[in-house]
Amino acid sequence: MAGRARIERLSGVLTSGRVSGKVALITGAGQGLGRATAELFAREGATLALADLNEATVAGVAADLSSTGAAALGLQADVSSLASVRAMVFDVLDAYSRIDILVNNAGISSAGTVLDIDEAHWDRVMNVNLKSMFLCSQLVIPVMMKAGGGAIVCVSSASGLIGQRAQVAYNVSKHGVIGLVRCMAADHAADGIRVNAVCPGIINSPMLRSIPENELGDKLSSNVFGRAAEPLEIAYEILHLASDESSFTTGAAVAVDAGTTSALR
Ligand code: NAD
Repeated sequence: MAGRARIERLSGVLTSGRVSGKVALITGAGQGLGRATAELFAREGATLALADLNEATVAGVAADLSSTGAAALGLQADVSSLASVRAMVFDVLDAYSRIDILVNNAGISSAGTVLDIDEAHWDRVMNVNLKSMFLCSQLVIPVMMKAGGGAIVCVSSASGLIGQRAQVAYNVSKHGVIGLVRCMAADHAADGIRVNAVCPGIINSPMLRSIPENELGDKLSSNVFGRAAEPLEIAYEILHLASDESSFTTGAAVAVDAGTTSALR
């Protein structure tokens, strides 16, 4: 009975208000994992600032969440541009005066070996997938420091943990995200800021649907479940790392990949 009561108490803790009272800025929130994370954070009580390159999709997500009673602000932003990131952070502070959680999620896919891609391709992938997380963190960390702390979650990938064929720019950018996370975790622990990476395996999102049919089978068989994750299955890990439940976790790169990087098929 005592054990059962403990589990009921724990599930109460784990299923309601896990980020209640916190302001969360989520990038790439117009679709896919970013959208699922926004929906989950709204259910768990966060006040939301949602940013995306695509103005229409992010406005739609913000409107949908607002209609359920959540506080959600939709912002158009290009996270690979310092000027745009500056304007985004300014708008969030104008609306809410604080940022407790930053989810660096926006990213693009890319295919090709070193011999297949050109300099412009390399730069674009690095700018959107890696420089963006540096820029957003650089502008948000001082805001968190002023408030006494915060949590940053960066979306890397299973591709950030192991090498893979014909995805060199994407793979290197996602390895870089983990390096950035580890350095920021060390540099800002004393400021009360925790920084962690989530490393998803394949996710059933619009990004996945852009992969050619003939390559999809290989991707799905890369994990022991033989299926893609639903975005919510990754969003729960982001929620955990963003919330106070993970108060002893920083500098981690958490694989949520159904064994892609750890189990033999
Ligand atoms: P997605 O393409 O469905 O969504 C990405 C969102 O980011 C889009 O709404 C897009 O408009 C936005 N975006 C792109 N460039 C941007 C920019 N410069 N500024 C602002 N917003 C921008 O992708 P997803 O599957 O939801 O991916 C989310 C994150 O998860 C990415 O970082 C991705 O690399 C990572 N990831 C995805 C998979 C997968 O299989 N889909 C696997 C591992 C990691």
